[in-house]
Order: sequence, then structure tokens, then C-alpha cells
Amino acid sequence: MNINLSDVLSSVGNSMDTEVNVSALEAEYFSEKLKVSSKAPFILNVACVSKGVIEITGEAVIKTVRPCGRCLTDVDCEYPVSIKCRVDVSKKELYIDDTSETDEISYIEDCTLDVDGLILDELFTRLPMSVLCKEDCKGICKVCGTNLNKSSCDCDQTVPDPRMAVFSDIFKDFNKEV
Ligand SMILES: [Zn+2]
Ligand SMILES: [Zn+2]
Repeated sequence: MNINLSDVLSSVGNSMDTEVNVSALEAEYFSEKLKVSSKAPFILNVACVSKGVIEITGEAVIKTVRPCGRCLTDVDCEYPVSIKCRVDVSKKELYIDDTSETDEISYIEDCTLDVDGLILDELFTRLPMSVLCKEDCKGICKVCGTNLNKSSCDCDQTVPDPRMAVFSDIFKDFNKEV
């Protein structure tokens, strides 16, 4: 969804509310493919705070489904996203926390605000790298792939990690020399 900023930018003090509903937005977060949507429609306010500079504010709850980091089961996730940022529209620069620092942004182009891009930018700054279906998720068996939360298997779980075999060889040799 796009918001045309030319009206609001035409004079300092202008303010505009837009009802936004994000749905079935596809995004890539590292190697994860995410389908992102807002839990409910929300209001995004855009105000012209000084010449060429807008302030964007809004509160949304973003929903997505992510695989459990241990057993890969789909986990329903909700993330509150609170947007409050100032952007110099002509320079496409974001002012960070009222400091003089700026950051380049990609969600504003030619007086048009790409709401999906803004939401993803805000979401990605607070998205944890991975999630668990439950704190004590048992994961999947490394040998046969059984989901150990649902059933058990008879595999020998002490099978050493092949990457560790190198070390055990080193220790073997070390012991011989002693
Ligand atoms: Zn799990
Ligand atoms: Zn197994």
C-alpha cells in the first residue's frame, strides 16, 4: 500500500491519518520466508513537521508464522510495532532519536510512502533471530527426524557429531604419545 505525501508536504503543520491494513505481505528475513500481516487495521499518521520533513507515527500488531528453531513446527507469532520516525523526504534520510545522525531509507520514493516497506523495516529491527514452539521443546531426532515432542524413537542419541570426530581423533593420538 502506498500513501501519497505531496498534500501533507505542501505546508508545515499539515497532518493526515490513513487507515492501513497489511495483509499477506511476503518478506525474507535472513533465510526465513515470512508471510506478514497486521492483526487489525491501524491508523498511520503522517505530519509535516518542518519543510520537507515528515513525522510518521502509528501502533500496529504484526502477525507472522515462524518455524520453531528446534523442531521446525509452525509457531504463530505476534509483534507489537510502534512507529515514530522523522524522515527528510527529499534526501530520503531517517533521523534517529532526535540526534543529528541519519540513516538512509528505501520506503519513500518520489513523495510516495511505501507502507509495507516501512512496516517491514520497523518489524525487522525488533524480530528475534529465532523462536521456540515452547520453552522446553525437545527438538527433532538428529538420526531419524522424529519430532521428539510428539513421539520418541530408539535412536542412539549419543552418536557423536561428525564435526566433533576430528577432535576425538586428536585426543586418541595425544593419548598414544603419552
Ligand atoms: Zn519446537
Ligand atoms: Zn530417532
